[in-house]
Amino acid sequence: MASIFSRIVSGEIPAAKVYEDDLTLAFMDIAPASRGHTLVICKTEYPQLLDLPPDVVAAMAQTVQRVARALMATLQPDGFNVLQNNGAAAGQTVFHYHVHIIPRWQDDKALGLWQPGESDPATLPELAAQIRANLQ
Ligand code: AMP
Repeated sequence: MASIFSRIVSGEIPAAKVYEDDLTLAFMDIAPASRGHTLVICKTEYPQLLDLPPDVVAAMAQTVQRVARALMATLQPDGFNVLQNNGAAAGQTVFHYHVHIIPRWQDDKALGLWQPGESDPATLPELAAQIRANLQ
């Protein structure tokens, strides 16, 4: 069954569209974390980041930057978050790749970010080496 975002791409359900090209589409989030919260999606339905072919990765990055510039020019926020969830454990609810652009104003409390933890400087290089070994 097509994802809710594929149904927006096909025109089956409406969205407040901001930008569109061959590979990507941007529209307003229906339950915004802040004024201007916009989603950028790829038109083809890939579940998450690891599924994207390189041309779609590049197209998504370009559209995110383009839409973020337009949001900054339109709303003049103090900053913005670019957020992207992969997997239910990470908070993903729509399994069609998408990037959130969330305008931020000083002290707006629009997002709860992580609590900084502690690391063991002695073990970080070993962990980095393990990850390096899996780069393709
Ligand atoms: P995530 O939790 O990263 O999967 O985010 C999914 C986002 O999609 C949420 O912020 C929802 O508010 C948003 N959303 C779901 N359905 C729609 C829709 N029909 N139009 C616009 N945004 C939607």
